[in-house]
Amino acid sequence: MSDQHHFAPLSPFATGLAGRCPRCGKGALFQGFLTLKPRCESCGLDYSFIDAGDGPAIFVILFAGFVVVGSALAVEVLYQPPYWLHALLWIPLVLLVTLGPLRATKGLLIALQFHHKAAEGRLDRPGRT
Ligand SMILES: [Zn+2]
Repeated sequence: MSDQHHFAPLSPFATGLAGRCPRCGKGALFQGFLTLKPRCESCGLDYSFIDAGDGPAIFVILFAGFVVVGSALAVEVLYQPPYWLHALLWIPLVLLVTLGPLRATKGLLIALQFHHKAAEGRLDRPGRT
C-alpha cells in the first residue's frame, strides 16, 4: 500500500452500518442494493479484500425468521386473529426485517473485516501519527 495516506481509525459500526468505505468513511461501499463497488471512489481503497459471501444474508434471514415466528405465535396465543390477518401482518414484516437490515449487516461485517485486516497491517498502516 502507498504510505501517502494516513487515516484515523473509524468505527466499523459507524461506517459499516451507513454503507460507507471502512477506511475513509466517505466513499460508498455499494453500487446496487447489495452489490459492492470495485473500490472506494473517495480514497481508492480496493474492495477486493472483502470476503462477504452469503453469510450475512443467511444470518439475517434466520434471525428475522425467528423473530417473526415468535411474534406470530405470541399474537396467535394472545388474540387468535383470522389467518388473513396473520398474512397481512407477517409478510410485510418478514420483508421489513430481512431486507431492511441486510445491507447494514453486510456493511458492518465488511467494515469489521477491514478493521481486523488493517489492524494486522495487511491493508493500511495504523492511523496513528
Ligand atoms: Zn474510502
